[in-house]
Amino acid sequence: MNQVICDLCPHYCTIPPGGAGDCRVRVNLGGRLVASTFGRPSAVHVDPVEKKPLFHFLPGSTIFSLATAGCNLHCRFCQNWQLSQRDGTQMEQVFHAPPQQIIHYTLQEKCPSIAYTYSEPIVFYEYVLETSTLAREKGLKNVLVTAGYINEKPLRQLCRVMDATNTDLKAFDEGFYRDICGASLKPVLQALTIFRQEGVWLEITYLVVPTLNDDLVRIRAMCKWILSELGAEVPLHFSRFHPMYRLQNLPPTPEETLIKCRQVAKDVGLHHVYIGNISGQQGENTFCPQDGTLLIRRFGHAVQENRLKQGRCPTCDHLLAGVW
Ligand SMILES: [Zn+2]
Repeated sequence: MNQVICDLCPHYCTIPPGGAGDCRVRVNLGGRLVASTFGRPSAVHVDPVEKKPLFHFLPGSTIFSLATAGCNLHCRFCQNWQLSQRDGTQMEQVFHAPPQQIIHYTLQEKCPSIAYTYSEPIVFYEYVLETSTLAREKGLKNVLVTAGYINEKPLRQLCRVMDATNTDLKAFDEGFYRDICGASLKPVLQALTIFRQEGVWLEITYLVVPTLNDDLVRIRAMCKWILSELGAEVPLHFSRFHPMYRLQNLPPTPEETLIKCRQVAKDVGLHHVYIGNISGQQGENTFCPQDGTLLIRRFGHAVQENRLKQGRCPTCDHLLAGVW
């Protein structure tokens, strides 16, 4: 019947002719699975790498960032829903930029790396893979900012050309993934471990949504899992929620909740725990895990001071985990 099955992500969508997958952008054209946003980003910016957020990857550098429409999750709190919850034909802005053009822009802007970001790069997988491969040939680095909802085989293939990722862990709770995000937790945990196995620099973002995933007992369990399965050196960013999309009834995350989350993670034994989307407190800075020396001082997305010497602490010579 000319149906196609997309085996990129755990949804395994069966797509009828003329139809699209759950992500809205992977379509069946006459029995052929086509990624409709290939070479057609809807957002293109030069950002500080700290905005991804990546705090242990070329700090203070700029990163060429692009996104297409579409996402394979449907988080009710999506902070980028105008981009993620639509298909390419509904966008006001679509650029024509084949992979070669992205490399050209990146070199022109003198960015050392490219981020596939804002919405969900998994759904524009072929575009990411081809652009990343070309980028590597030009000595550029690649960064995937993702929810990590992808099957093992395509992920391992992508890891060959990825240098770093910031992956969301949206909750440590299957029910939350099912009810709030339209996905499931287990594949995300698998993706996190694959990034580590494949040597891709990993940082994790956890958006703290009041009443829905701010239970400290669960957060402690998650931190223990990160410690045992991924290691103490993986940076964890607790990010502030702002009322958005279908969750406008909830308040922004109180600052003290974020501070408590950070304390729980540090008590469990994680070395680098940050607070995001709020400026002006200690949770933005990087400290030496060995002697507590302040290594990188930040304000918002700006690096105000970087005291690392080739990735080492100037006081005790400890080599900080990351890409420097
Ligand atoms: Zn030190």
